[in-house]
Amino acid sequence: MYKYAIPEEKAKIYEEIREQVRDFAEKEIRSIAHKYDKEDKEIPWDIIEKMSDFGYFGILVPEKWGGLGLDYTAMAIVAEELSRVWLSVGSVMTRNIIAETLLMNNGTEEQKKKYLPGLAKGQILAAAAFTEPNAGSDTAGIKLKATKVDKGWILSGTKTWCTFANRADILVVLARTDPNPPKRHLGLSIFIVEKERSEAHEKIKHPNIAGELIETVGYHGMHCWTLHFEDVFVPDENLIGIEPGKGFYQLMQTYESARIQTAARAIGVAQGAFELAVKYAKERIQFEKPIAEFQLIRSKLAKMGTYIEAARQLTYYACMMKDTGKRCDLEAGMAKLYAAEMVEYVTSEAMQIFGGYGYSKEYEIERYWRDGRLFKIFEGTSEIQEEVIAKRILEIY
Ligand SMILES: Cc1cc2nc3c(=O)[nH]c(=O)nc-3n(C[C@H](O)[C@H](O)[C@H](O)COP(=O)(O)OP(=O)(O)OC[C@H]3O[C@@H](n4cnc5c(N)ncnc54)[C@H](O)[C@@H]3O)c2cc1C
Repeated sequence: MYKYAIPEEKAKIYEEIREQVRDFAEKEIRSIAHKYDKEDKEIPWDIIEKMSDFGYFGILVPEKWGGLGLDYTAMAIVAEELSRVWLSVGSVMTRNIIAETLLMNNGTEEQKKKYLPGLAKGQILAAAAFTEPNAGSDTAGIKLKATKVDKGWILSGTKTWCTFANRADILVVLARTDPNPPKRHLGLSIFIVEKERSEAHEKIKHPNIAGELIETVGYHGMHCWTLHFEDVFVPDENLIGIEPGKGFYQLMQTYESARIQTAARAIGVAQGAFELAVKYAKERIQFEKPIAEFQLIRSKLAKMGTYIEAARQLTYYACMMKDTGKRCDLEAGMAKLYAAEMVEYVTSEAMQIFGGYGYSKEYEIERYWRDGRLFKIFEGTSEIQEEVIAKRILEIY
């Protein structure tokens, strides 16, 4: 049993959640992860349906809105355990969590009623369209234009890196509603754009949105898209919070939970690679003994295990801060930054322990290494995390 710095009774609940998710991941995901990744195949629907049945899409959503009403620690454990086997599966809920957080914090009662229960049950799947070709880290620089018309808005422009866009039922789109605000970040709003769900590997189904597939190094269970919006009508009631101009702040508010969730996914990927490396080190014989008996290999295992646990405890600490309603942008940023560096190190060392076999596509360690590299880039790059952390440090000390 993992150790948590919390009362034993609560730790027991978390451990039950971990066991349930681990059991599901081992039985249903392990056997397909490597094959699907190699063939660049998207996660099959039956896995997503089972995740919906277990309530994974609505972990944080209160029961009155159809969710499980659990806390951030529970959410982190679920993300960690799924990612331990396949990052893509551990990431499929991320978009729903972003949409739910945006709605719970800012949505009107009607918007909550319309979308939250479906999102929580995984009947509505979301994709996040924030990044643009010329605005990634610089969120305030986005240009996709929303023009006011009778009863709604017309969206035109380009988004990129929209993961899962083809299979999602809704796109959560950050758009510029004011072309000339006093400050760049003030003229932004977030819209919910409804679309038809596509089958795996099918293109985007929307008469006014064309999608181009982006080929990626890893993260193969979900595909990323560049989306071209051409006069997409969105009704007034689909602007989150109805009042325009608040999108930047609404999005920043979701970053704490998104960073915690991303740190947890990194821990899962690192843990998965670590376990494979430990097993291999015990089995691989060189110089007539298992390589686990060599001091240099033992040193690697010791460091890998230590760094994973440090990232885990930092992430659970951020969860506990969040669960008790405390500001935790610093802790969430630190957890994301550290976990991203940790997973790059751990997956690389795991590959090293596998020697030449680690570099072959036969062994799944190469998938962990490719997936592990992503964490310093998405959900806020490491450089941006460092900026966020440094800013808070300079305020506090
Ligand atoms: C696989 C994948 C999936 C993704 N999924 C989604 C998604 O579903 N939805 C979505 O909206 N986006 C998504 N993204 C986009 C992702 O969030 C961006 O790639 C990320 O925010 C960085 O933006 P950028 O790629 O434009 O890099 P840039 O912002 O151009 O950064 C380039 C480099 O400059 C550095 N840099 C930038 N500004 C500063 C600064 N002020 N100080 C120091 N260094 C700086 C960056 O850290 C980076 O190293 C995804 C990306 C990937 C790779």
